[in-house]
Amino acid sequence: MKLILLGPPGVGKGTQAQKICEQFDSVQISTGDMLRSEIAAGTALGKKADRIISEGSLVPDDIILGMIKNRLFVGEKPTNYILDGFPRTIEQAKGLEKLYSDHHDSLDKVLLFEAPEEMIIDRISARRSCSNCKKVYHLVAMPPKKKGVCDSCGGKLVQREDDKPETIKKRLKVYHEQTEPLVDFYKKRQLLEKIDATGTPEDVAKKVMTVLKG
Ligand code: AMP
Repeated sequence: MKLILLGPPGVGKGTQAQKICEQFDSVQISTGDMLRSEIAAGTALGKKADRIISEGSLVPDDIILGMIKNRLFVGEKPTNYILDGFPRTIEQAKGLEKLYSDHHDSLDKVLLFEAPEEMIIDRISARRSCSNCKKVYHLVAMPPKKKGVCDSCGGKLVQREDDKPETIKKRLKVYHEQTEPLVDFYKKRQLLEKIDATGTPEDVAKKVMTVLKG
């Protein structure tokens, strides 16, 4: 199964991607995580991305499409995966379509997660993630068993620099301007399924499973 998770930053895409991976034999492919690994490794791409990410803007389409091409179609190719945080522009979506057509492959579904903006801001503000394995927590709705420590690997939980209030508003604006047009793009291709993302992570996961199994 090949899925795209679409929706504003902080709506819960990463959390649901983790849950889908637990239920189905799937891998989560997050362009944000890939970029953060480049930053941690101090590569040239990482240095460029770091500046762009900290100001809440988008990394150029050609860089992102190059990373996705390598991850999906070069070397060991995953068969079941969830694209989390990609595509984020019409250009990226068209680039992905071209890659699928070149490789005689296709997408199965695009899940659009929807929640009111105040809830999104609250979720982003309370988000912490493991600096080691990237597992995502919410300080209230999904806290770790031990404060500041990842349940899965014992790694240190941190707040992402771009989750701080100054950057959140900019990221939401970028979402509305550059990513939201993808809703129509995938609606026209009859791939879009809307998910009400306002409940607890478990409630939302139930809705996701209904859509995926239906
Ligand atoms: P995320 O972890 O998905 O919230 O992404 C964090 C940041 O990485 C975004 O705010 C962008 O600056 C950058 N980024 C991640 N994915 C993409 C993408 N598909 N296109 C452009 N920039 C991206």
